[in-house]
Amino acid sequence: MPTHHAPQPAPVALVGAGPGGADHLTLGALRRIEAADVIIHDRLVSADILGLARAGAHVIAAGKEGFGPTTPQEAINALVTGHALTGARVVRLKGGDPGLFGRLDEEIAALEAAGLDYEIVPGITAASAAAAAIGQSLTRRGRNSGVRLLTGHDMAGFADHDWRALARNGEVAALYMARRAARFVQGRLMMHGAAPDTPVTLVANAGRADEQILATTLADWPADLSAAALIGPALTFVGLAPRAAAPLVSTTTQELA
Ligand code: SAH
Repeated sequence: MPTHHAPQPAPVALVGAGPGGADHLTLGALRRIEAADVIIHDRLVSADILGLARAGAHVIAAGKEGFGPTTPQEAINALVTGHALTGARVVRLKGGDPGLFGRLDEEIAALEAAGLDYEIVPGITAASAAAAAIGQSLTRRGRNSGVRLLTGHDMAGFADHDWRALARNGEVAALYMARRAARFVQGRLMMHGAAPDTPVTLVANAGRADEQILATTLADWPADLSAAALIGPALTFVGLAPRAAAPLVSTTTQELA
């Protein structure tokens, strides 16, 4: 448990905003947002959620793009701690769940170093919203007893994973930040024996009004992805097809929107 320090009236809230519209916000997140003096949010947080801030709240965008930071992490940490040290109620608002690919630990370390108390408010992660969008469950008895949440790239470039395990028939992986890694992941999986007709499904803007679904296969994934030109953040499932296409092994691409 974080320790308490005298001048802070409220802990800094590290809040998950969910993947999209206000529908996916938790009540806990809503309460923190409504009470905040300062909201420091990343680029995934949508305008309708920021619109829930009280009039007069200081709303600051501190976003990062997929490859390379737009606002350096140190600058974000300094923003959060700087405002909190003035005694303001600070909400650090992140897309999805703050504990998944959200650099939460680095922000917690900065808060601890500054002697600031904090709390974590979880949110609905993109994989949950994307699975709902295609009418699927992330796990199913007899199909996959686990699901992997993976990043397409890390600080060093395309991320390495246990490709052999992922290539097994029936495995399901939810890939975050994987748009540019399509050809790389495809190559690794094929090299480790994955079936070319393994379903691959992309859900862009999951949980939002402009949600888009691209259903393809491992073999056609990179080509179909460039042809589809999806706009916005996209979650990629390997091993999961939209329920409508569930009888599996369709090698044709279908765009359901
Ligand atoms: N903490 C977030 C993930 C941040 S990493 C979460 O729990 O969801 C950013 C990646 O998340 C994006 O590149 C994309 O792969 C995915 N993502 C975030 N919001 C999304 C959305 N609404 N629809 C589809 N993918 C999304």
